[in-house]
Amino acid sequence: MRLFRFSLFACLLAAGFLMTQIATGDDIADRAKKLHFSSIVLDTHDDTTQRFFTKGFDIGKRNPDGHIDIPRMREGGMNAIFFSIWIDGRIMGPPAVQKALDQIDAVHENVIKYSKDMVFCRTAEEVRRAHAQGKIAALIGVEGGHMIGNDIRVLRMFGDLGVRYMTLTHFYNDEWADSSTAKPEHNGLTDFGKDVVREMNRQGIMVDISHVSDKTFYDALEVSKAPLIASHSSCRALCNHVRDMSDDMIKALAAKGGVIQINYEKSFIDQAYKDAQEKLSGGVVEMMDSLRKVCGDDQECTERKMAEIEKQAVADGKLPHVSWERIIDHIDHVVKLVGPDHVGLGSDFDGATMPEGMDDCTHLPRITDALMRKGYKDEDIRKILGGNLLRVMEANERVSREMQASQ
Ligand SMILES: [Zn+2]
Repeated sequence: MRLFRFSLFACLLAAGFLMTQIATGDDIADRAKKLHFSSIVLDTHDDTTQRFFTKGFDIGKRNPDGHIDIPRMREGGMNAIFFSIWIDGRIMGPPAVQKALDQIDAVHENVIKYSKDMVFCRTAEEVRRAHAQGKIAALIGVEGGHMIGNDIRVLRMFGDLGVRYMTLTHFYNDEWADSSTAKPEHNGLTDFGKDVVREMNRQGIMVDISHVSDKTFYDALEVSKAPLIASHSSCRALCNHVRDMSDDMIKALAAKGGVIQINYEKSFIDQAYKDAQEKLSGGVVEMMDSLRKVCGDDQECTERKMAEIEKQAVADGKLPHVSWERIIDHIDHVVKLVGPDHVGLGSDFDGATMPEGMDDCTHLPRITDALMRKGYKDEDIRKILGGNLLRVMEANERVSREMQASQ
């Protein structure tokens, strides 16, 4: 999500709740451990890339804060990660392209630096090979179509650099697509926006509809020749947030073979938390705007102010507890709606506020354990952990090959 640097906010909340927190020891059944640690556990949305630019962060070492690093990924059995490339949605044109390239480079450099543990992957087959070699598969997703600078050639360049999905918008509208959190300007996708989707198909870059308006989603679904993904969204039926997907949207996504990757952000998975947070802030974009008036582009100031607001909310008991089990509720909702082939994991680690009990990626085995306890079949759990996303990736690779061959 990358609204604000949520890690500090999450820490404060966690500290506030510490006294009443439920058991922290993960009591995972042996059978669940066996399944989890032999599966491809793929997370489609992690804002860890931003941390590469933070002083003192080293992905190769265990960090006291944040949600992701190699030691904790090993501990949680998370062996495939999409590093998100993100910049503020109001930065447009060449500066947006430049900043995106800086981040893409940082991912590649970190993978090279820790090549003993990580390997860069461009295809589903490469992810499977990485897993067979005991390595973490590193992939790239761009979060926001504004980063192509309105130039379709940049999109092709992104494809060459290994970008494997692009979210069509972030919190603000692009010049060619409407976002779910901004006033509609384009009635969904413009003609150029539709060309972007077609070119993404041709490049084998999955079309990611997280963050976009409902109309943009339906436009993209109609234009795309390949199945779509929602890299980090949850279910509106359980938490009525514009960033989540309605049942109709999930059904339409699934009917075309796509997958929704569940976001763990508290305000996307829990209605009571979302309502309480909105009462406090007036909504995420409003909160960001008001903080920006005070802090300008000073990220540290924004974090500090954000933390102050949260600290006060915790002290006043204005924000309710949210358990990690809400994640399971969202997965189960999708399974009940469209079956086990269309849901996966898109945590938003290092970019969102994690529910209690999912404080970082070390707790991921809980998901496998909970699904097993619900009676899910092993093969379905493996699909949810990563198989479904790999299937969609392969379908996109196929469409790309066909489009390039027919030219
Ligand atoms: Zn996001």
